[in-house]
Amino acid sequence: MNNPRYPKMPDGTIIASKDLPLKVRMPPGLARVNGRCFALGGMMMEVPPDTTMETLGEYMVYSAVSLHAGPIEKGMQTRWTVKGSRGDEYTVRLETGKYRCNCPGYQYHRKCKHAASIASQHKS
Ligand SMILES: [Zn+2]
Repeated sequence: MNNPRYPKMPDGTIIASKDLPLKVRMPPGLARVNGRCFALGGMMMEVPPDTTMETLGEYMVYSAVSLHAGPIEKGMQTRWTVKGSRGDEYTVRLETGKYRCNCPGYQYHRKCKHAASIASQHKS
């Protein structure tokens, strides 16, 4: 159910369906203004007036790993699963330019070998 006139940016630019749903850094919400409907989530776009929270996901989804609001990042990995020495698995995420891990060592020291190994593989 794609309405070809939607969604569009505040300047009227229509967003191509291949770019949907947009990934945003904040959990998206809906705002209704004068019979128009806007999806909000760190950015704003106009969506069909009959959009509900259920159908909002067609246009905008929350992505905690998205680095920047703004341009859509395609094919850029920001999340890795790393096996620890005891066979446990940790998730390393790239957030705001930093590699963060969910292992206890990282929580304590703000660094760990998992994050360091991912970082060394992805030096630019
Ligand atoms: Zn770690």
